[in-house]
Amino acid sequence: MGKKYVYRFSEGNREMRELLGGKGANLAEMTRAGLPVPPGFTITTEACNAYHEMGKVLPEGLMEEVDTALTLLEKEIGKEFGNAENPLLVSVRSGAAFSMPGMMDTILNLGLNDETVEGLAKLTGNPRFAYDSYRRFIQMFSDVVLGLDEYLFEEVIRNRKEAKGVKHDPDLKASDWQEVIYQFKEIVEKEIKKPFPQDPAEQLRLAIQAVFDSWNNQRAIVYRKIHKISDSLGTAVNIQSMVFGNMGNDSGTGVAFTRNPSTGEKELYGEFLINAQGEDVVAGIRTPQPISKLKELLPGVYRQFEEISHQLERHYQDMQDIEFTVERGKLFILQTRNGKRTAQAAVKIAVHMVHEGLITKENALLRVDPDQLNQLLHRRVDDRQALQVLVKGLPASPGAATGKVVFDADEAEEMAKQGMKVILVRPETTPEDIHGIVASQAVVTSRGGMTSHAAVVARGMGKPCIAGCEEMKIDLNKKEFQVGSIVVKQGEIISVDGGAGNVMLGEVPLIDPVLSDEFSELLGWADQYRTLGVRANADTPVDARKSREFGAEGIGLCRTEHMFLAPDRVPVVQEMILAETMEERQKALSKLLPMQQGDFYEILKEMAGLPVTIRLLDPPLHEFLPNLEDLLLEVDRLRRAPETDKILLREKEDLLRKVKSMHEMNPMLGLRGCRLGIMHPEIYAMQVEAIFNAAFQLKEEGIPTEPEIMLPLVGHVNELSLLRKMVDETYARVKEKHVGEIRYTVGTMIEIPRAALTADQIAREADFFSFGTNDLTQTTFGFSRDDAEGKFLQYYLDHKVLPENPFIVLDREGVGKLVETGVKLGRSVKDGLKTGICGEHGGEKSSIEFCHLTQLNYVSCSPYRVPLARLAAAQAALRHGAAKEALKESVVH
Ligand code: PEP
Ligand code: MG
Repeated sequence: MGKKYVYRFSEGNREMRELLGGKGANLAEMTRAGLPVPPGFTITTEACNAYHEMGKVLPEGLMEEVDTALTLLEKEIGKEFGNAENPLLVSVRSGAAFSMPGMMDTILNLGLNDETVEGLAKLTGNPRFAYDSYRRFIQMFSDVVLGLDEYLFEEVIRNRKEAKGVKHDPDLKASDWQEVIYQFKEIVEKEIKKPFPQDPAEQLRLAIQAVFDSWNNQRAIVYRKIHKISDSLGTAVNIQSMVFGNMGNDSGTGVAFTRNPSTGEKELYGEFLINAQGEDVVAGIRTPQPISKLKELLPGVYRQFEEISHQLERHYQDMQDIEFTVERGKLFILQTRNGKRTAQAAVKIAVHMVHEGLITKENALLRVDPDQLNQLLHRRVDDRQALQVLVKGLPASPGAATGKVVFDADEAEEMAKQGMKVILVRPETTPEDIHGIVASQAVVTSRGGMTSHAAVVARGMGKPCIAGCEEMKIDLNKKEFQVGSIVVKQGEIISVDGGAGNVMLGEVPLIDPVLSDEFSELLGWADQYRTLGVRANADTPVDARKSREFGAEGIGLCRTEHMFLAPDRVPVVQEMILAETMEERQKALSKLLPMQQGDFYEILKEMAGLPVTIRLLDPPLHEFLPNLEDLLLEVDRLRRAPETDKILLREKEDLLRKVKSMHEMNPMLGLRGCRLGIMHPEIYAMQVEAIFNAAFQLKEEGIPTEPEIMLPLVGHVNELSLLRKMVDETYARVKEKHVGEIRYTVGTMIEIPRAALTADQIAREADFFSFGTNDLTQTTFGFSRDDAEGKFLQYYLDHKVLPENPFIVLDREGVGKLVETGVKLGRSVKDGLKTGICGEHGGEKSSIEFCHLTQLNYVSCSPYRVPLARLAAAQAALRHGAAKEALKESVVH
């Protein structure tokens, strides 16, 4: 017997997600739990993959299995597919293992044709409903399966409404819909040169194929790429008997979340439309009513729905996003899934569920995606200031954004490519707009509710969104919108506050984020579980304070070059670099010394009691000098000028000579890092003196410090030995002038492959290692980051030459092997040698997991990523308990 491709809902369960897709697995699970789910069956993702593998041919035996399942379905509900007297109608929906909102296609009312529509009319005693359902089916089928333009059909309806002098679809009568259907069929026949398929079996086959095909439509591909979903998963197809929300005012359809997906508040949250079908709510075309209204209109149904939503939440132990339909007062659940939520809601829901005893702390920690936390650490609109709100809409996804108004997704993408920040403003969005949403800072729609396409997608991406801004009159042709008498044209700047639902003209003041109580609580739990330390990369007192606030346990990288770049210092730094004699250089250095000392004093003070790793100067010196090409042009101009200032010309020529002499072919591999310290020891000596002076000064004030002096770019142990000697000698010199001692250590960055490979030798001279995975990635791949990212890396990623950007996600196989080697060799000569990472990877979850597995002592990342790193480190510890045990044994803190 061949593979089983079809599973009835009663045969599946939630564990079968990969095979049945998320929707199919949940429908099966709900059926088993005895919930009112319209019966049906699911075609597996394996069938979809087989279909594509065979070049778009339905796999053998599939349609026979579908037939058998259909027969059973007919028996179960006492209706027959294609029977004119008593027709069974089905919906056909896609459903991949991961939910892809709005990405794939859905067909409702399949099984209707010229005969069954009459049966439906008689059976329900409601011809208007029957014809309306049929015309919807033709429209959807033509769009999704036959690929015809929806516009052709909308026009027919519009004309009909005009001819009848009515405004809304529900005002059209049965006979109007009959006429519409007649015209629809004519359109189809004209376009595809064949009549609209009347045979339900053929309709079903074509629909199944269309769902399979939609796995590879453009928007599905884009969505998968953004969300890193594998192309090889395939989609399942769910075939389910239809229930009707458009059978009158005791019918309706809706979507509800068991908690507020935007704020995380515990309240039933959603929308519904009375007398409407299927996609009307999600499509955002009619603005629906809040779910609380259902309580007034159909109180019994509301109560039952409330109960079911509690049951589902308890069952899945997570916030659910439930689709439901009411057919003549009877409630049906069409779908449930874990609801998408903002970071704010994710954190709040996870923490509340622990308090409610629904899940454990471990569950809560594993459930929040560290990547999402970025959203919480963004700046927000300062609502303590008086704001001029232009228009208000529904607060569909929180966050603040400012940008130029743009009305079209393609243009949004284009403008963003040119470096502009844009805000996409549309009546509503559809899956075709996805690239525009990606390119925008925020989305504003004039129609649609909290569960509209724009709202769902923006929340998923962590972008601010305001939906249903009904007072905003958008004119897509003129590329402008109007609110009252104010007209805003494309390119003008607006700001949005997605948490409040406010749209404002121009820019508005923003404030720094603060951690909510729930967020702090969750991170407190994270700290109980993680074994990796978390430090921050900070080189100003402000950043140092922020780091502490976010829970950093020290500074893992204080880059001193940034201190040289302050506008008032550049001239002194240049004086130091351009000095012709040692005397001149010392003079400049003695001016820099108190400045550096002040910097270190402030930073060490902010971090009192915590370790601070200060890295001595790293970049090539010419980075502090004027640009060579600019200078060339200037000297040329001065030489040509008729009455040139000779002194100025001489000065510039001198400068040019110096800059030329310092010019390097490959500065990244040139005179920088510790090489600089060896060639110009006086510069490093000044920095070290400044560090010790500051530390003694603080000691005298009773403030404890722990400076860790770090030497960059070491490749050979001798480099480190030389410089370590310089540090110790400088300390001895500084100590003379003070009472007592200060504790300091001297370590090195490991950012050159040779350093990792000879880490046993290097460790003899180092008190600690800090892996500089930015440079280590460059030197391991032989890529210069700027050139790679500008020239070929994107192509590599698009064509899967590389699985990830190695500058973002640590390349475990190559760079990672060097890190492992470095740790192992280092600890082989120095038991418990302290090791950390300070490249950008220190703030990325998969790299953090790697650091945990490699038993590093800490990661160091930018201050705003510290909370993310705390959570990611806890997740790594929870997922890899064994490594945690090993770490405890082997590492001396
Ligand atoms: C590194 O190379 O990883 C590092 C942290 O140093 P920088 O980025 O300053 O070169
Ligand atoms: Mg580096």
